[in-house]
Amino acid sequence: MSGHQADEPNRCESRGTSRRPRSIRPAVEGLSVENGTPILHELLASLHEGVVIADGDCRIVAISEAFTAITGYSSEDVVGRHPACLAADRCAVPPADDWPNGGIPSEMCGRRKDGTPFPARLKAAEVRGGDGRVTHRIIVFSDLTEDREKERLIWRLAHYDRLTDLPNYTLLLDRLKMLLAAAKREDGVVAAVVIDLDHFKTINDSLGHAVGDEVLRVTARRIADAVLATDTAARRGGDQFIVVLPHLRTADDAATVAENLMQAVAQPIALDNQRISVTPSIGIGLYPDNHGEAEGLIRCADAAMCHAKGLGRNSFQYFTPAMNTRAQERLALESALRNGIARNEFSLHYQPQVRIGDGALVGVEALLRWQPRGGAAVPPAKFIPVAEDCGFIVELGEWVLREACRQRGRWTGMGFPDFTVAVNCSALQFRQQNFIEKVLGAVAEFGLSAGTLELELTESIMMVNPESAGRLLHDLTAAGIAIAIDDFGTGYSSLAYLKRLPVGRLKIDASFVRQLGTDPTDHAIVSAIIALGKSLKLELVAEGVENAMLLETLAGLGCTVAQGYHICHPVDASDLEDWIARRS
Ligand code: C2E
Ligand code: MG
Ligand code: MG
Repeated sequence: MSGHQADEPNRCESRGTSRRPRSIRPAVEGLSVENGTPILHELLASLHEGVVIADGDCRIVAISEAFTAITGYSSEDVVGRHPACLAADRCAVPPADDWPNGGIPSEMCGRRKDGTPFPARLKAAEVRGGDGRVTHRIIVFSDLTEDREKERLIWRLAHYDRLTDLPNYTLLLDRLKMLLAAAKREDGVVAAVVIDLDHFKTINDSLGHAVGDEVLRVTARRIADAVLATDTAARRGGDQFIVVLPHLRTADDAATVAENLMQAVAQPIALDNQRISVTPSIGIGLYPDNHGEAEGLIRCADAAMCHAKGLGRNSFQYFTPAMNTRAQERLALESALRNGIARNEFSLHYQPQVRIGDGALVGVEALLRWQPRGGAAVPPAKFIPVAEDCGFIVELGEWVLREACRQRGRWTGMGFPDFTVAVNCSALQFRQQNFIEKVLGAVAEFGLSAGTLELELTESIMMVNPESAGRLLHDLTAAGIAIAIDDFGTGYSSLAYLKRLPVGRLKIDASFVRQLGTDPTDHAIVSAIIALGKSLKLELVAEGVENAMLLETLAGLGCTVAQGYHICHPVDASDLEDWIARRS
């Protein structure tokens, strides 16, 4: 549940400004305020409103008894002061000196002696002497605290569900309309998610309504907890809830939330020595794909929810079949990925990097391969982004790191020379608090010598937070880990930072290298990168070298290391060993 406050009536606010104070000339003329008269005292004692009487200079000369009751200030506290001293600072009240001239607000936020604010309605009048000059100003105010409390209570009753304390359908619809208007302006993606509990009637009928109510209360809390503070979870009525997700990056994000909601709702509920299980059927309607209006979007989600029920309940469905298929595939891929490590479905291939001058092997890049059991191999371009989105890349990256270090240790044991093993690191992995411990742990565990492990990071990983990235890179290099910038040229780099980072190599992205001989722009880019790298004293590695001509051109431009199909495809460890043996 979130943002309730924003929708509630303001507890204490200034509303409007009255015109110039009314002049009441002859009626109170002759009442000497300073001396006091019985009539005036009677009057001030009998009124329920707070009354302030100030002189022509706007200094308080008398107050009513109700004034003290409302504000806590006695005469001694305020006589001689300006009436504006009662206004709470944060309220828009004209500066004290403007009061006699600019008029005073018809409503304002006052401040009691104990500091608490209170809303007040004001009326002001002036008393003029025979010469027309203002001799006194009278301000009458009433405390609106109780009125406002009642307003708030009524508003809350009208907008919140009494059983679960979630926003009700009316409030949800209001918010959805506002969010859709914002999404239209900002090209946003919004989802309406309808959640219906499966077989809830059976719980009500067999266990009674008190248990049914408790199940709804617990479920409501779980739903509210499963979404972000910026989302809105509401009870529509009966056993139906609606969640609005306003800040989605893509339509697929709604599936992740739906999955979380399914899990949260399906947890057994312990009640009176029994465990009650209830599953949800969930339908998702999306703006802009399905509908542009609030009610229409909810209708789409309703239809999708019914479809989920029809398919056997306890599942979620998108409104359109195409989205459905995509989301289901993605989730299937995600769950298959998560199982892949335990099932030994991942392996590493290694692609050699050679010195262009003499063809010597200087390193290999470890590239992840996934061969799901009983299925076709999935290319990294397909599964790495999914693993990144769902956070699994951290675990997977750790596996790669350890496996690459293990292999490097094994090669050392077999007497192979000290070529480096380069491991690709994702942004998420790099940002883990314990990243450096993991890296150094793997290096120590497999006894790697300094300089034999290289981490490949992209420019954007370092540029998100250059200072902390810089510190981390310095610590890594101090521990003998080499750093390469991968896919250089495709992201944003600040040369100023690049200069300060302890980077050893720049890898020129294959997309520039591929057309080096044929595209003058690519030729210009590659030669500029090489010149830049040289000036920063970095080693340059060209990726995607597919033929001899490219190799020759790169050599001419001063590039020192090459990697690509022309030299060797990525191969498994034993094929790499054969390749090395053949070359030597
Ligand atoms: P990358 O780091 O830029 O890796 C180089 C990619 O270029 C590899 O694709 C490699 O097989 C391919 N390649 C090598 N030589 C040639 C060539 O001559 N021509 C062409 N057309 N391609 C060539 P791969 O193995 O499919 O990997 C793709 C991307 O997936 C990698 O790009 C990297 O960003 C990511 N990746 C692979 N393994 C890992 C990993 O363990 N962790 C992380 N975070 N990302 C990985
Ligand atoms: Mg790489
Ligand atoms: Mg690359």
